[in-house]
Amino acid sequence: MVRHSSRIELSQSALKTNFNFIRKKVNDDTRLSAVVKANAYGHGIDQYIPMAEKCGVNHFSVASAHEAEEVLNVCSPSSSIMIMGIMYDEDLPWAIENEIEFYVFDTTRLEKILNAAKEVGKKAKIHLEVETGANRTGLIEASFKKTLTFIKKNKEHFSFEGLCTHFGGAESLSNEFKVSKQFKRFQWYYKQCKTKNLLPKFRHLASSAATFMYPESHYEMVRVGVAQYGFWPSPDIYYHHLSKEEKQYENGLKRVFTWKTDVMDIRTVKEGEFIGYGTAYQATHEMRVAVLPLGYSNGYPRAQSNRGHVLIRGKKAPIVGLINMNLFMVDVTHISNAEIGDEVVLIGRQKNNVINVASFTNSTFLLNQEMMSRLPSAIPRRIKR
Ligand SMILES: *Cc1c(COP(=O)(O)O)cnc(C)c1O
Repeated sequence: MVRHSSRIELSQSALKTNFNFIRKKVNDDTRLSAVVKANAYGHGIDQYIPMAEKCGVNHFSVASAHEAEEVLNVCSPSSSIMIMGIMYDEDLPWAIENEIEFYVFDTTRLEKILNAAKEVGKKAKIHLEVETGANRTGLIEASFKKTLTFIKKNKEHFSFEGLCTHFGGAESLSNEFKVSKQFKRFQWYYKQCKTKNLLPKFRHLASSAATFMYPESHYEMVRVGVAQYGFWPSPDIYYHHLSKEEKQYENGLKRVFTWKTDVMDIRTVKEGEFIGYGTAYQATHEMRVAVLPLGYSNGYPRAQSNRGHVLIRGKKAPIVGLINMNLFMVDVTHISNAEIGDEVVLIGRQKNNVINVASFTNSTFLLNQEMMSRLPSAIPRRIKR
C-alpha cells in the first residue's frame, strides 16, 4: 500500500476517559448507545467500533442501513446495532435476518415489516419513534394507538425494543422551553403503551447534551454521539456542568483523534511575489514557505485560507494563500530548522502547542461534528494507546 497524504491517530486511553466520564453521568442500569453515524463522526468505523467495544460499549446507533452494514462487518457478534434513519423497504429482510434494530416512524411501514418478519422467520426489533415537537420524523398522536394495536396483534413477529424521540436542540439553554414541551409530549405516548399493556424495553430520548443536562430524560438508554469523541456539545452544556459541579474547569473529556501530515516541499518566496492561486497572498518580505500535500478535497476546509495555522516543530505556521484542492502553503520563515518530511499537526498536539477542533472551526463556522464528519474515509486511521 502506498502512503496517503495525511493520517489520523486515535487514542484508546482518551476514549476510555470519555466513556468513564459519560458513565458517571448516568445510572448503572442505563444503557449507553454509542452513536457512530457518519463514519463514527469521521473517526473511522473500522477502527472505532473495536475501540469502543474495548471500553465495554455494545450498542451502536447509526443513521442508515448502509452505515449499519459497515458496523455489522466489524462489530463483535454480541453487539447490537440500531438504525435511527433511512432504510429502504427492500432491506427489511436483511435487517431482520441480522437482528438489526430500527426506527419505525411511519405507519404504512408496519405491514411491510410484518411480511418481512414472517418471510425471514425472526422477530423484527423495532423502536417506535414518536413526534414530540422537532417535526423531523416520528409517529403522530393520531395514529399511535392504531400502531400499538397492530403490534400487539402481531406480537409474535415484533420485538418492541424501544420508544424514542429526539430533542431538537438540547445543547442550547434557550431551548429548554421547547425541550420540556417535547419531554411532556413523550410521556403521553408512554402512557398509551401502559394502557395497552405493551411496554418498550427501552425508552430513549437523550443525546450527549440531554445526557449532561436533563438526567430525568435518561430512562433505560441514552444515545451519546459527540461527547464520546471528547467534545462538549456546546458552551452552554460545558458551563452548566461547571456550575453544577462547582468547578473552575473540567478535563474529563479528551479529544480522541489527531490529524497529521508532512512537509512536502519548502521554497523561498521573494518580496512582492504571490503565493498560490490569484492574488490572495502577496509576500511583504522574503519568506520561507512550506507546501503541504492536502487540501479541501481531503477535508481541510477552504475557509481556513489565509486564516488558520498548522504546527511544525512545535511552532505555529500560519496558512498563506488559498487552500487548494490538494495543496496548501504555510509560512515557516520563523521556523528556520523546518525541513521537507517534517511532521505537521493539522489538529492535535505537538510539543507545547495544540490546535483544537474548536479553534479550527471558529474561523470556518463549521460545527465540530460537521468538520470531522467530512474527513474522507480514505484517510488511514491508526489506533494508539
Ligand atoms: C446524532 C444523533 C444523536 C447523537 O447526538 P450528539 O449530539 O452527537 O450526542 C442522538 N440521537 C439521534 C436521533 C441522532 O441523530
